Amino acid sequence: MAICRYQHSDGNIEHALYRDGQVCPLRQLGVELSSDADVTQLGNAWFRDLPIPQEDQWVRSPARLLPPVANPQKIICIGLNYRDHAIETGSEIPTEPVVFNKFLSTLSGAGDAIVLPKVSKEVDYEAELVVVIGRTAKHVAAKDAMDYILGYTCGHDVSARDWQKGRPGGQWLLGKTFDTFAPIGPCLVTTDELPDPSNVRVRMHLNDATVQDSTTAQLIFDIPTLIEHLTQIVTLHPGDLIFTGTPPGVGAAMQPPRFLQPGDRCTVEIEGIGSLTNPCEAE
Ligand code: ZN
Repeated sequence: MAICRYQHSDGNIEHALYRDGQVCPLRQLGVELSSDADVTQLGNAWFRDLPIPQEDQWVRSPARLLPPVANPQKIICIGLNYRDHAIETGSEIPTEPVVFNKFLSTLSGAGDAIVLPKVSKEVDYEAELVVVIGRTAKHVAAKDAMDYILGYTCGHDVSARDWQKGRPGGQWLLGKTFDTFAPIGPCLVTTDELPDPSNVRVRMHLNDATVQDSTTAQLIFDIPTLIEHLTQIVTLHPGDLIFTGTPPGVGAAMQPPRFLQPGDRCTVEIEGIGSLTNPCEAE
């Protein structure tokens, strides 16, 4: 199943099945969910039991899609997780995952603006497959890790390089956590629809050019390994998000570097999930 959230012009929030830019509201299928429901708490079986819509129940997707996951407790991100991307940034190939995070205030949905901060001149794009956790997970072995995943969505790890690199302590947090720096969407695709995430194509289109094009087969640390590693340290809860890293082709590695400008349009496209487009605007 693929599911999305959207907002009506009166502010009301609704959940719907999602297919290629079309939606079928769950209420049309006789499924009642309150507007503030968090579907990540319902478990994989709830999604499997959803009715299949008739062809004529699909309608054009509304203008305002919201992040498909409303309220994750954690947004965890993995850095330098594609071998070629680590090389293009001049970094060593990591021997253990590079982990950082974003605050919840970074989250936005498909179509929402990426706000380019006044205080940065080097905002960059990063297309990423995002894992959505479906069950409470602590000390999970890699061989069992897939059982803890609810599904996947497209994510954009927007990054202000001038706040990510060379700042005191070497931390990446500030450069990664400006408001609007984590668009996700357009939908959450559950594991029954995308059972094997180990070789899916991940692309970033910047305006009309494809600037990143790789597959998750290039991950240095695959998704089960990441879950095993992270759950040694933190308990993952339903709805928690893991951004799994970005392929080569980021703007900072171009000659000369190509950073995001007002009016640019970024589209993350992931095989089996869909496309997440966000325009850029000045703060
Ligand atoms: Zn990233």
